Amino acid sequence: MTPDEFRAAGYAAIDWIAEYLESVEERPVASVVVPGALLAALPPAAPEDPEPWSAVLADLDRRIVPGLMHWQHPSFFGYFPANASPPAILGELLSAGLGVQGMLWVTSPACTELEIGVLEWLRVALGLPDRFSAAGPGGAVLQDTASSATLCALLAARDRCAAPLAQQVLYTSTQAHSSVAKAARIAGFAEAQLRLIPVDDTLAMRVDALSEQVAADRAAGRVCSAVCATVGTTSTGAVDPVAQIGRACGDAWLHVDAAWAGSAAICVEHRGLLAGLEHADSFVFNPHKWLLTNFDCSAFFVADRAPMLAALSILPEYLRNAPTASGEVVDFRDWQVPLGRRFRSLKLWFVLRTYGLSGLRAHIRGHIALAAWFAARIAADPRFELAAPVSLALVCFRHAGGDGVNQRLLDALNGSGRLFLTHTQVDGQLALRLAVGGRMTEARHVEAAWAEMVAWADREAVATG
Ligand SMILES: *Cc1c(COP(=O)(O)O)cnc(C)c1O
Repeated sequence: MTPDEFRAAGYAAIDWIAEYLESVEERPVASVVVPGALLAALPPAAPEDPEPWSAVLADLDRRIVPGLMHWQHPSFFGYFPANASPPAILGELLSAGLGVQGMLWVTSPACTELEIGVLEWLRVALGLPDRFSAAGPGGAVLQDTASSATLCALLAARDRCAAPLAQQVLYTSTQAHSSVAKAARIAGFAEAQLRLIPVDDTLAMRVDALSEQVAADRAAGRVCSAVCATVGTTSTGAVDPVAQIGRACGDAWLHVDAAWAGSAAICVEHRGLLAGLEHADSFVFNPHKWLLTNFDCSAFFVADRAPMLAALSILPEYLRNAPTASGEVVDFRDWQVPLGRRFRSLKLWFVLRTYGLSGLRAHIRGHIALAAWFAARIAADPRFELAAPVSLALVCFRHAGGDGVNQRLLDALNGSGRLFLTHTQVDGQLALRLAVGGRMTEARHVEAAWAEMVAWADREAVATG
């Protein structure tokens, strides 16, 4: 591609994205392709000779789009959102355009320093304690995912603990995200070393059960090296009592996973979510879920970076350089598992500046208000019930008719192509989850979701007499 061809193709690609976002609402939210459809359509080998750009772009529409779930569709209510925004998309594009690799300060000083700067903006915006500021012994880094951040926290905790690995135990709740169990496994813990603490009727970790387990483990000569608390569980949005957990777990490393819910703390009325964070050794939340910054972008804060650096630093000869040797700079390769790193802070910087905190708060508040409206409809209709307390913009609910009815309801809603929800289990029973969080989601989309449910329930009542 010559520079002029690149310009033309680039403008066309931006037009394509703009049209996609403008019309995404007209597409079926979930893809209906059968497994293997795209693979069967691809030639078995890469083309020997160059193809024109127009042919490649045409295949984006023909081959790729049919196999997509449209996460930016305003009626996408599944999992948790992975919302994006025009400034974030441009940040991603410019990051690719620059093509820099920020593994060391010296390999692009601005990449490291912008990251430090915007993470401090986020720390202040969320009201996180000063101990997570890079001005002291702590600091923050952008990781690809919360899964990676949790792994780094467990590696630091494991190595900080004076006891040998075989004697260590970890605690988290039965509702914790699967990334905690995966991180424990990668960090070398046996499955039995991860204790799943039971939850109360709001699905939050029971501190009395935690304290009992701590006492039993101590009596048996085991040492708790880390506790993972969750603020906003993936299943139902439950919030563990972080302050009490911090007091119960002594000097174990306390990691707080707020992957989805953390973004809400930019609104002062939701700061209570972060109560007890002054006890935490680390905290992670994902701007790539609910802060209009496209995947991947996970913000990881530590109160003391030294144990993490001790766990993750290795300096081979070929990476030695004068700024690193001076000790005056941060090399983020030591704050993550991979060596190489993308210029992720660029998109976050664009988002923070073009929306402003007020704009981001308006989005979060809008989503929470829509979820509250939907939950009120559920509560007022005797055919439906809330399956768990409403958490921010997440509503877990079910039809009162039992698992079979709920599965058919979910299949019918998702099969319509007009909206998309996912499910979970609460108290051993199926529950549907409606997670509001799309950048383009408005009241009419949530109202339409409710109307679809009512219409289905009416038909169901007729069909079953
Ligand atoms: C989504 C989620 C994760 C995993 O996030 P990734 O960034 O995809 O690793 C972890 N914990 C909770 C509570 C989540 O909701």
